[in-house]
Amino acid sequence: MALDMHAVAGVHEGSEWVSELYRIAATQFAATADVLDLDPEHRTRLLEPRRALTVNFPIRMDDGSVREFTGYRVQHTLTMGPTKGGFRYAPVVSLGECAALAMWMTWKCALLGLPFGGAKGGVRCDPTTLSAGELERITRRYTAELIPVIGPDRDIPAPDMGTGEREMAWLYDTYSQAMGYAVPAVVTGKPVVLGGLEARQPATGLGCVYVIEAILERLGWVLRDQRFVVQGFGNVGRVAARELHAIGATVVGVGDVSGGVVDPDGLDVEDLAAWSDEHGSLAGYPRAPAVGRAEILETECDVLVPAALERQVTSKNADALRCRLVVEAANGPTTPEAEAILARRGIRVVPDVLANAGGVTVSYFEWVQDHQRYSWDGLELQERLRRMMRAAAIKVWEGSEEHGVDLRTAALTVAVRRVADAGARRGIYP
Ligand code: GLU
Repeated sequence: MALDMHAVAGVHEGSEWVSELYRIAATQFAATADVLDLDPEHRTRLLEPRRALTVNFPIRMDDGSVREFTGYRVQHTLTMGPTKGGFRYAPVVSLGECAALAMWMTWKCALLGLPFGGAKGGVRCDPTTLSAGELERITRRYTAELIPVIGPDRDIPAPDMGTGEREMAWLYDTYSQAMGYAVPAVVTGKPVVLGGLEARQPATGLGCVYVIEAILERLGWVLRDQRFVVQGFGNVGRVAARELHAIGATVVGVGDVSGGVVDPDGLDVEDLAAWSDEHGSLAGYPRAPAVGRAEILETECDVLVPAALERQVTSKNADALRCRLVVEAANGPTTPEAEAILARRGIRVVPDVLANAGGVTVSYFEWVQDHQRYSWDGLELQERLRRMMRAAAIKVWEGSEEHGVDLRTAALTVAVRRVADAGARRGIYP
């Protein structure tokens, strides 16, 4: 869909963060504000990000040349506590994308009751074409540029697409070098040896499965009888697919950047994971038929789990989906236009702010531990995650039933109300 600046009502003219993804986030926010009958003050206060930083910096490449990179950090609201959210490395990273993702982080944290506002950042680059040394220099310089706006009680970055514990360790070290002492709470998703949690890496995928369990119970669907398709076989999709397989569900399709594989009788997800580890992708997997990237979404199943990129289910393919439920493990995979089509077809969508909130929830545990210099047992953390995800899922389900709204509106209603109430109590300075 073409970019329509006028579709984002209330945003300052010429705002650099107006992008297609931001339009989606703003459209969802406006629909929720209408349901809540939110006053104009809070509509204005919550629509646009509080802060947005763009940085351009030079990096010495391995061949001796110098390349300029652009990075961003957007903080959506400062009302709930420090801001929290990942940073990504991808060729399409933009201020507008970060602004949308930062807003979703606010809702995610508020829905789970975490004491954070939302933030998101990233560097526009293709990490697959960069050496470890180049990525380290990019990460350290990006961190240095962000020092005025991040900090353990200011804004706490974490992994996202194209970044992981290696980048978090570099960020931790760079920030700590600048402060002159170790500051583990400045970033979450760190390696375990640096104060990270074993539970963090699988948290988003596992949290998604806990939400699926709770929602299917409410729908009266027996999990073991359901066929799942998972689009994405990275940090989130791979964990979700393995866990679904492990608890007895049938995974009939899995996709990644190279395409996908399907088998109506069920795939051996462990075997697929081993293949993907060895070969770098699912391409060439010999024990199930291959399909294209677009077809994986249209594979017949009960539950479709988009766990890759944003804007995957659009007005172009929403009519072709052959599932009964969509669970958004990715951020923003369904456009509002597609969601309207799915609603007409009776296909419910479990929204991203609920389904993928497991990652930031375990990040919160890590941050608390770093602050307290105390660690909990891993099993206890997993049980806490399960309890919190289930409680949020049930709250969203009940809100949806009680008010006759879809699950996204129910989730956003809880979150927006919480943040607006906090904003009203804090008032406006000066
Ligand atoms: N990047 C993750 C997300 O989109 C997690 C952020 C965090 O752990 O702070 O939710």
